[in-house]
Amino acid sequence: MRYISTRGQAAELSFKEALLVGLASDGGLYVPAAWPKLSFDEIRSLRGKPYAEVAFSVMSPFVGEEIDDVDLRRMIEEAYATFHHPAVTPLVQMGPNDWLLELFHGPTLAFKDVAMQILARLMDHVLTERGERLTIVGATSGDTGGAALEAFKTCHGIDTFFMFPNGKVSDFQRRQMTTIGAENCHAIAIDGSFDDCQSMVKDMFGHQSFASTVRLSAVNSINWGRVMAQVVYYFTAATALGAPEQSVSFTVPTGNFGDIYAGFVAKQMGLPISRLVIATNENDILARTLTTGDHRLGSVKPTITPSMDIQISSNFERLLFEAAGRDPAAVRDLMAALKDSRRYSLPDKMLRFIRDSFDAGAVSEVETLEEVARIWKYAGYLADPHTAVAVKVACDHAVPDVPMVTLSTAHPAKFRDAVRNATGEEARPPAWGDVSSGRTETVEHLAGDRARVEEFILKHARLTRGSVKSLTSEGVTS
Ligand SMILES: *Cc1c(COP(=O)(O)O)cnc(C)c1O
Repeated sequence: MRYISTRGQAAELSFKEALLVGLASDGGLYVPAAWPKLSFDEIRSLRGKPYAEVAFSVMSPFVGEEIDDVDLRRMIEEAYATFHHPAVTPLVQMGPNDWLLELFHGPTLAFKDVAMQILARLMDHVLTERGERLTIVGATSGDTGGAALEAFKTCHGIDTFFMFPNGKVSDFQRRQMTTIGAENCHAIAIDGSFDDCQSMVKDMFGHQSFASTVRLSAVNSINWGRVMAQVVYYFTAATALGAPEQSVSFTVPTGNFGDIYAGFVAKQMGLPISRLVIATNENDILARTLTTGDHRLGSVKPTITPSMDIQISSNFERLLFEAAGRDPAAVRDLMAALKDSRRYSLPDKMLRFIRDSFDAGAVSEVETLEEVARIWKYAGYLADPHTAVAVKVACDHAVPDVPMVTLSTAHPAKFRDAVRNATGEEARPPAWGDVSSGRTETVEHLAGDRARVEEFILKHARLTRGSVKSLTSEGVTS
């Protein structure tokens, strides 16, 4: 499979290249040159199959001949063996035709594991083949850092550094990053905000000598490998509920638009999806875009659903590309307007295309807490606040005869305080995912100063390939 940029001015890439580069050199995002299709019978045959088998059927057309089937199957098996549920992403019934798709049975209790676990293995495989290595640097406001550090801890060709704003992530999230215990994984607490961390990452990519010395890379949500991995659970869920004979709708708590865009990809591949419903918190730019056609950046409001506290929804550009009939010039115009005037208005034709598949709804802070309480009261189920946002929006968009699947993106224990405030209940993590005590924390504490962080990375990144040792009693370094 070849990959093309949504802005049309970057080189076409192979799957392996797209996997390693992330962002295209013209500022665009890579998408497959054509959508692979699964036939009615092929989709029918996925019903009831183990997750790893469905994952192979869904992912292999995107990979093509570039990775041997035996290797791809092995990596998929290993990635999903880290999940603690035999179905990997089980469905839970919440009402006569309402379902939750639990995506949080992976090692860090949030849905980011689904993509990170396979992405890490794919990247390490490609680097090993080439005898190359990389350094991944990222900024996290919570879930991504833990999922990435956990997934990359066994990768011999990759060192991973994640910065987080000191004191501004939950204890549980911090401990997920600081108790990994592998010498190639580093958590860095920065004095500053998430935006400060993010802008240091950007500056490091701009600092050419540093970037090339460490071979800097990223694993942000625009990486095609992450999107591809998320397409799989739309197939397992829909076929379990009767697809392809029966069509199914999905509601997705949305931030960077990666997760719900994967649903759109599943639809392009032939899965009969009736509606894709975007659920947002008070950072409702996407809901407003769908209602009015006006895409207007505001400022980010912090909420109890921090993983959706976003204004710039990166993966939305991939949908714009399709809505524009794959015309990169139209995408370039919209992105230029967004950069210059912080807004664009969608041409009617594009808006109609988007509304053809998508609906949207936004939920306030008060409503989110009320919804967590309501779900507990009526279904005896503790939902994390991100999931509750989506459940509320799903209720507003449910139609008889079409199963509605709501994606549940985090275990309630990851957002224990909000869940307690709403219900009075303690959401306890499962023993295997409980980082709250025991292991020693290893964290570097640095000022929000790029030069200091680069110095730390240069000192600790293994600039040649080497095997990964795990740390047993390293102790706290700050
Ligand atoms: C990342 C995340 C989301 C948002 O997913 P996107 O792919 O960015 O839309 C929602 N909920 C949780 C718990 C997350 O960690």
